[in-house]
Amino acid sequence: MKTLKDTITQITMPTPYAVGDVHTYLLKGDRLTLVDAGVRTEDAWKALVEQLNHIGYHPEDIEQVILTHHHPDHMGLVDRFPRVETIAGHPKLKPWLERDDRFFEQYEAFFKWMYKEAGVPERFDSLLKGLKKPLKWTAEGKMTHLLEEGDALPGHEEWRVIETPGHAQNHLSFFRKEDGALIGGDHLLAHISSNPLLEPAYSPNEERPKPLLQYRDSMEKLLPLDIDTVYPGHGKVFGDVHALIQTRLKKQEQRAGKVYQMFKDGPLRAYDVCERLFPKHVESQLGLTMSETVGQLDYLESINRLKTSIIEGEKFYEMNG
Ligand SMILES: [Zn+2]
Repeated sequence: MKTLKDTITQITMPTPYAVGDVHTYLLKGDRLTLVDAGVRTEDAWKALVEQLNHIGYHPEDIEQVILTHHHPDHMGLVDRFPRVETIAGHPKLKPWLERDDRFFEQYEAFFKWMYKEAGVPERFDSLLKGLKKPLKWTAEGKMTHLLEEGDALPGHEEWRVIETPGHAQNHLSFFRKEDGALIGGDHLLAHISSNPLLEPAYSPNEERPKPLLQYRDSMEKLLPLDIDTVYPGHGKVFGDVHALIQTRLKKQEQRAGKVYQMFKDGPLRAYDVCERLFPKHVESQLGLTMSETVGQLDYLESINRLKTSIIEGEKFYEMNG
């Protein structure tokens, strides 16, 4: 007997990243859909084609691609399917997929401003010019279908969209109530905690998003749902989401506690905290470590433990009271 579980098949591909393999999911319904599309390497493509063949399909059978978020290991092969006419994702994924030059200019300008305010030393300036480098691992395409909170997936009416910003501003998860299946992208992974990453606002009047606060909200948002199985972007398929979410939230609060103690001796800029929190990784992984640091500072500010002041264009945090 066929069950709901038979409508979803995991396909696993290698990536050049430390995170290791990435999964995409083949969904069978009124349309044949791929949720996410790996990274743009020949190894990934070969793995994808082989696994499709193994279950009786070819790349030309795929009718649409639905994306969980814009990271290169999730949309790198989106342009390799000749029959795909629909590419669906969150509206904030559009500038990434369509390579909007103005957006990338704003993106670079944002980090320049952000890092200056955070006290990042000038020796990191060359990094800012390399922000577009990861784009070589990804594809260009045309977004044809926008997905937002509560929408049904085209061709798969039983799956609903849950917006889960944090790891990425455009991050979506997909939930099928009937059997409690969640396609979770990188929102929730069993083996590692997912990184809430700094990104600029997507429209000029918006404030800088606070990814860690969003991430916490996006985790709490899943608590009332009856989730049985998570099909993640990396690592093993898992259940027991409640316990995992509680663990992740608690761990983050513990790290925030550690960061708070750093302010005993006086005010610090975000970079000063980053150096103390990640002495081994700050040089090689500035983007990632600064995202994590600013996240913790945003959190401590949100619960009124820290307050900020701007001195000569730099932002200082100090204990509040
Ligand atoms: Zn990601």
